[in-house]
Amino acid sequence: DTLDQIDRQEKEIHAYLYIDKKNALARAKQVEKKIAAGDMKGPLAGVPVAVKDNICMKGGKTTCASKILENFVAPYNAHVIDRLEQAGMVILGKTNMDEFAMGSTTETSAYGVTRNPWNTGRVPGGSSGGSCAAVAAGEAFLALGSDTGGSIRQPSAFCGVTGLKPTYGTVSRYGLVAYASSLDQIGPIGKNTADCAAFLEVLSGHDEKDSTSVKREDLDFSSALGKEVRGMRIGVPKEFIGQGLQPAVRQAFMDAMKAFSGMGASVEFLSLKTVDYMIPAYYLIASAEASSNLERFDGVKYGRRAADCAGLHDMYRKTRTEGFGPEVKRRIMLGSFVLSSGYYEAYYLKALKTRALIRQDFDRAFADFDVLLAPAAPFTAPEIGSSLRDPLAMYLGDIHTVAANLCGLPALSLPCGRDESGLPIGLQIIGDCFQEKKILRAASAFE
Ligand code: GLN
Repeated sequence: DTLDQIDRQEKEIHAYLYIDKKNALARAKQVEKKIAAGDMKGPLAGVPVAVKDNICMKGGKTTCASKILENFVAPYNAHVIDRLEQAGMVILGKTNMDEFAMGSTTETSAYGVTRNPWNTGRVPGGSSGGSCAAVAAGEAFLALGSDTGGSIRQPSAFCGVTGLKPTYGTVSRYGLVAYASSLDQIGPIGKNTADCAAFLEVLSGHDEKDSTSVKREDLDFSSALGKEVRGMRIGVPKEFIGQGLQPAVRQAFMDAMKAFSGMGASVEFLSLKTVDYMIPAYYLIASAEASSNLERFDGVKYGRRAADCAGLHDMYRKTRTEGFGPEVKRRIMLGSFVLSSGYYEAYYLKALKTRALIRQDFDRAFADFDVLLAPAAPFTAPEIGSSLRDPLAMYLGDIHTVAANLCGLPALSLPCGRDESGLPIGLQIIGDCFQEKKILRAASAFE
């Protein structure tokens, strides 16, 4: 079925960078045999899954949608890929994304735009736009995304699917090409909360190859589903629904608040004083870490190397000039600047201090509330092309999502309505660290 959907839709949507049908069919047959012989069980055996192209799969290409990794073949599997395979899932291919996961629309990909399945004149969101479009179009049952500042939740909202960014350290980052290591986290994308919970059970767990991986015992996420929200304390940061919200997004959000009170939860406003500092702190820290992580793409160790170079420095310059797109270059320059001596204290160190204050703000909130509600994005999917003309406006569109990454918090986006033109709207539920189950409980009650 999924392969049929791919045949019907992929030409128009372009969710994938590559699809390996032959391999997927062979693998599906193999899993089927194992299930019949009783050698494999588990709810996700045989389920077709798409993988974002910044996650390494042994022997296959991993490009991060960048020219600099055009022909890069990973020599090993990411930890999550081993997990999928152990669970008997069938990998269909690798999905399109913003180059190195930098962007909010999937338009910074070096390999063409992905179209939103609900309206092909619109972007799917980003950076995991290919993964979310694949699930929305039925071109995959589940998909892997990565979320550094919203890249699972925002495209999930734009594509009308459900996506979860787990608590930092819950899913191993081993084999995920790093964007900003202190913020990056891999997570599940699916049609609903139950699918995401089952998928997260497969993905999560300690991995000694990721030094930030956490040992947790509460990984039975599906046990949180199907429960009531009566008595739950739900907070709404009022700064998140201030100016700049598209009216249909505001209306859908208000309706969601009412739905929760109607189900017996207590829903109250609170104030987060640090909201104005979230975007600046995020973009400084993410760019600083990116400039350091992307240093390794120098034409020597990985991927592309420019031809006809006059010495080492010329090779670095030419390779990077040809290999990186404009958004990636912008981040590397901003990041190198804020880390350089003389500016470090004024920018990077300030951003780190701000990050600590934002964390304190959330600590105070979670003393009073089980979960927080927020929009997943201030607007629905923009038209293709419009964000490239105005990067700053695109950055500001991340206002609702970046704080969860700065603080390591789990957060989920699920559909909560549509705007006047039928585009999906996402509702975000944010929890304290390790409180995925509270989020899932609230989300499944709302669905
Ligand atoms: N849009 C944000 C950025 O461009 C978030 C990206 C992400 O989460 N990978 O940095």
